[in-house]
Amino acid sequence: MKINILPSFSALMTTGIALSCSLATYADESAYDSYPVYTGDDLELTVESDATLFRLWAPTAEAVRLSLYPTDRNSAAEKTIGMTRSVDGTWVAKLPGQLYGKFYTFSIKHNGQWLAETPGVWAKAVGTNGQRAAIIDFSRTNPEGWDSDRGPHTPAITDAVIYEMHHRDFSVDPSSGIVNKGKFLALTEDNTHNAHGDATGIDHLKELGVTHVHILPSYDYNSVDEANLPSNGYNWGYDPVNYNAPEGSYSTNPADPAARVKEMKQMVKHLHDNGIGVIMDVVYNHTAQNDDSNFSLTAPGYYYRHRPDGSYSDASACGNETASDRKMMSDYIVNSVKYWAKEYHIDGFRFDLMAIHDTETMNRVAEELKEINPDIFVYGEGWTAGDSPLPVERRALKENVSKMPQIAVFSDDIRDAIKGHYSDASDRGFATGKPGLEETVKIGIVAATAHPQVDYSKGNNSKFAYASAPTQIINYVSCHDDLMLTDKLRKSMPDATDAERQRAARLAQTIVFTSQGTPFMFAGEELFRDKKGVHNSYKSPDSINAIDWELKHTNADQDKYYTELIKLRKAHPAFRMTTAEQVTRHLKFDDVNEPNLISYSLIDNANGDEWKEIKLIFNGADEERVVKVNKADWTVIAHDGQINADGLTTARGGKVTVAPRSATILARTK
Ligand code: CA
Repeated sequence: MKINILPSFSALMTTGIALSCSLATYADESAYDSYPVYTGDDLELTVESDATLFRLWAPTAEAVRLSLYPTDRNSAAEKTIGMTRSVDGTWVAKLPGQLYGKFYTFSIKHNGQWLAETPGVWAKAVGTNGQRAAIIDFSRTNPEGWDSDRGPHTPAITDAVIYEMHHRDFSVDPSSGIVNKGKFLALTEDNTHNAHGDATGIDHLKELGVTHVHILPSYDYNSVDEANLPSNGYNWGYDPVNYNAPEGSYSTNPADPAARVKEMKQMVKHLHDNGIGVIMDVVYNHTAQNDDSNFSLTAPGYYYRHRPDGSYSDASACGNETASDRKMMSDYIVNSVKYWAKEYHIDGFRFDLMAIHDTETMNRVAEELKEINPDIFVYGEGWTAGDSPLPVERRALKENVSKMPQIAVFSDDIRDAIKGHYSDASDRGFATGKPGLEETVKIGIVAATAHPQVDYSKGNNSKFAYASAPTQIINYVSCHDDLMLTDKLRKSMPDATDAERQRAARLAQTIVFTSQGTPFMFAGEELFRDKKGVHNSYKSPDSINAIDWELKHTNADQDKYYTELIKLRKAHPAFRMTTAEQVTRHLKFDDVNEPNLISYSLIDNANGDEWKEIKLIFNGADEERVVKVNKADWTVIAHDGQINADGLTTARGGKVTVAPRSATILARTK
């Protein structure tokens, strides 16, 4: 998800979970801080050479039971035993032998009542619908060559080009030519193509040149019934159940706990083998359920924030919010992402509604991940979807990103300024001819760092330079939330042709991909896909969400433009500066006081670039603009809706005419 600045009812719709406020009486909020803390790394399940050990953190339990099952569902327990109270709020049990192939649940006695069975909060393998945890041998889940598997080397996050995709959108349409439709394995298939022979799937990603795929939630989530695939097949997945196991509907067999693990690893391995990193969208800010969540069934109340009346506070607008400011929840988030980084070789994490978490936890996340692999990066939504008891100064907000040196946040500034407001379909932006947004676009161009030529008082969303460095900003113009770019352009330019809208899309993305910060795009935008005008497609059918790969033929020129644009960015470090000082020194805006016009230069071989100067002129107006450019031997990189990273033609400078609604980019080496 989702939404920014203001709470929105569309956020509520995202998971389809009604607001249900439990009035159960919990301990006083501050009492949670006195709970014992367990810091060992053996929570819930450890398989030794001759025994299987269980350790559940359930500090308020009066008793705890462990049940063993022969199958993942529809079977009676073959054994139920009482667990023994142990150190620091944990309960333990030890059974002889390696119980591979068995399933288990815990149940705790709370206030004199046995609560429902739960697979725990640390289930790393689960059966159908994640109801029972599974005991599997992880050493047998690794693809060949896994020990030497590694993602792309990414010295700075600004070197990344991020492609946000949903497994099902990407491969489910027949035009994909992919066999494993909607599955992790879709990204292991080479040589797939549409009916016209254009590359699809991973081959398309390689052609396009993106460095990382950002996969929408891929942990085990609630809303797709894994027992009835594929009849009930679609959800974004922002409704977490088991944070440490892959989602079953993306595997070829949800009933086989090892299959989802193996297949997700195969996906990662194949992407890595092709030079592409994997970023996981993680949603630790809330759970799909309240009283029935795995958190509530092991340590009732502890993992959530509450209102004074004991009801769940709800900064996620999905019914609850977790309490990262409590030690065991903070540790949980940190240890969970570390687990994904180590076991699945994940290269980056995108935090949903990150501002529900505290800055201290997010800093721990980044620091401890970088110890595992310095190339891992972390970014998130620097906002909440509702108010929170967590004090504003502690929230991992966009406005607090300077307190989180190794974290990046999405720039809603550049997003809304380029295309128009996210929630007002007909509103236009800089690239579609609305005047007055020039300064906000400039905030995006300098990645929200302090720059002497940017007047933050004129910013639409932000009034101060909130980023300390360009490495803290993700620039984008659309994502899975709200109207994606094609639909936004259709709604806001109702009288235009698609050719005119494609022109606007090119300008919009040229601004994003040449700006300082890290560029991010939504899958299929390069094909000018749409979602038929649906702004919140979280559970829409494939007919709305699937990428029609025939569009790669229909809109080949659009795809070509994006490909060249990405090539340009990757070839030129000037677009990828890492410090605010560099940006101030090497990025100079020209004094062009006309609506929908921005002109600037990247000068003096910025960030070691071979080009001495790069001139970028963006004209969002529906008419030509003339800009004065120094006389020199320029190579024309982009002009009039065309782009070639190696040059379209040459120019002498002087008065340069910039075509309507397009970007002109010039470069010179001397
Ligand atoms: Ca699931």
